[in-house]
Amino acid sequence: MARKLSPGQKLVLASHNKGKLREIEALLEPHGIEVVSAGALGLPEPEEDAPDFAGNARIKALAAATVSGLPALSDDSGFCVAALDGAPGVHSARWAGPAKDFGHAMATVHERIGANPDRRAWFIAALCVAWPDGHTETFLGRIDGVVVWPPRGGRGFGYDPMFVPGGAQQTFGEMEPDEKHAVSHRARAFAQVLTSCFG
Ligand code: IMP
Repeated sequence: MARKLSPGQKLVLASHNKGKLREIEALLEPHGIEVVSAGALGLPEPEEDAPDFAGNARIKALAAATVSGLPALSDDSGFCVAALDGAPGVHSARWAGPAKDFGHAMATVHERIGANPDRRAWFIAALCVAWPDGHTETFLGRIDGVVVWPPRGGRGFGYDPMFVPGGAQQTFGEMEPDEKHAVSHRARAFAQVLTSCFG
C-alpha cells in the first residue's frame, strides 16, 4: 500500500545539484508542498555507490530523511547513450570531473561516439521518497531522443544542450523550462510521485 504525504507536509529535497533543485521546485510549486533543501539543512552528501539509478536515489533519500527526521525526496538521474552501451549512465556527474565541466563531459560523449551512426540516447530519473522510519518508494521516468553535435542552447543543465527528445527540433538546452517539463524524465517520474504519494 503506497504511503501518502499529508498536504502542508514539509519535504527535504535531498539534492545538492542546483539544476535539479530548480526543476524539482518548479514541479512541486503548484502543489503547495513546503520544501527545504539538503544544502540549507547542512546535510552531508552520502556516497552514491549503488549500481543503478534507483539504488542511488534510495541512498540519498534515506540519508536525508534519517538525519533530518522529515520525509525526503531525492533524484538520481543520468544520460545514457546507445552507442556507448548506456554510458555515462550512473556516472553522468562524474564525467564532468571535480570542476563540474559539462562542456568537457559532452565533448567526451561526442568523441567516444566517434563515427558510430547510432545517435540514440535517453535520460533516466529515479525519484525516491523516504520517510524517517526507513520506508521508501521509488519511481522511474525516461525520455528517449538523439544526440546532436555541437551542443545547442544555454538553458537547462548538464547534458541538455546535446539532447533532442523524440519528435522535437530543439535540444533541452534550447527549450523553455515548461517545454522540457512537459516531456522530461524527471517530470515523468514526478507525475508518479504525485499520484502515489499525494493522490
Ligand atoms: P546525480 O544524479 O547527482 O548522480 O547526477 C546526475 C547527472 O546526470 C547530472 O549531474 C547531469 O549531468 C545528468 N542529468 C540528469 N538529469 C539531467 C537533465 O535533465 N538534463 C541534463 N543532464 C542531466
